[in-house]
Amino acid sequence: MNVRPVKQKIKAYEVTEGAGVTVHRSIGTPALRNLDPFLMLDHFSSDDPGDYIAGFPDHPHRGFITFTYMLDGHMLHKDSMGNRGDLRSGGAQWMKAASGVIHSEMPQQTNGLMRGFQLWINLPASEKMSSPGYQEFSPEAIPVIETDQATVRVLIGEYAGSRGRVEDLHTNVQYLDVALRPGKTFTQAVAGGLNGFVYVFEGDAVMSDTVLATHSFALMGEGDTVEITAGVQGARFILVAGRPINEPIVQYGPFVMNTREEIEQAFVDYRDGKLVRDKASFVSA
Ligand code: FE
Repeated sequence: MNVRPVKQKIKAYEVTEGAGVTVHRSIGTPALRNLDPFLMLDHFSSDDPGDYIAGFPDHPHRGFITFTYMLDGHMLHKDSMGNRGDLRSGGAQWMKAASGVIHSEMPQQTNGLMRGFQLWINLPASEKMSSPGYQEFSPEAIPVIETDQATVRVLIGEYAGSRGRVEDLHTNVQYLDVALRPGKTFTQAVAGGLNGFVYVFEGDAVMSDTVLATHSFALMGEGDTVEITAGVQGARFILVAGRPINEPIVQYGPFVMNTREEIEQAFVDYRDGKLVRDKASFVSA
């Protein structure tokens, strides 16, 4: 057993997205451009409607997957393929933009807490221009494991024999939401060769001698196991890992491809109304 150290600690910082939504970004910043296969991590958390009410009106994506985990709140998703999705507290949404999707994500609340994460997962070159896909998961569809130490929600991948409903075939993503009780330690295998991180969003924790306060992002170093101990108030964090794609990444806003020419093509296609090529399959659970 080789415990992974904290290779880099990043304090997420506030950026304004969409029509004026405040988010805490960690991956996709000057401190960490990307963490192959992850391109961006945004944490939104506010009970001030001014931070979220403007939402994310129609915008395009090409070349990757967006995975949204809603902790609190209610968002309506609509896309160019005719899908309409309701994202509620505890639910999740997996959207493979691939060759092209135009969608909106708009709050369905005018007050109260809006809290969650959006993670961008890259696709290999062979999948970037494939057909889009869309899956939505109600809170009940997400396995919850109770142990003496923690409550673990399995969003993607496996924990203690329970598998999440999202299958990530290209990068073997593992995505857990862990609520760790005060002073308890959580141990999880994260195979060598995977890139991974921990993001603390409640309380604080210690990972290999590094203190992680709320909104701390910890990039995992080499090893095959992660050990995290909660502080006196407990801690809640997401633990995410995936297999790197090891291909060139050329990103321009909502388009992530392998070459500049492909990015230019995405802009031409969007301008000419040709970004959306295929209807996505819609699966909800
Ligand atoms: Fe989007």
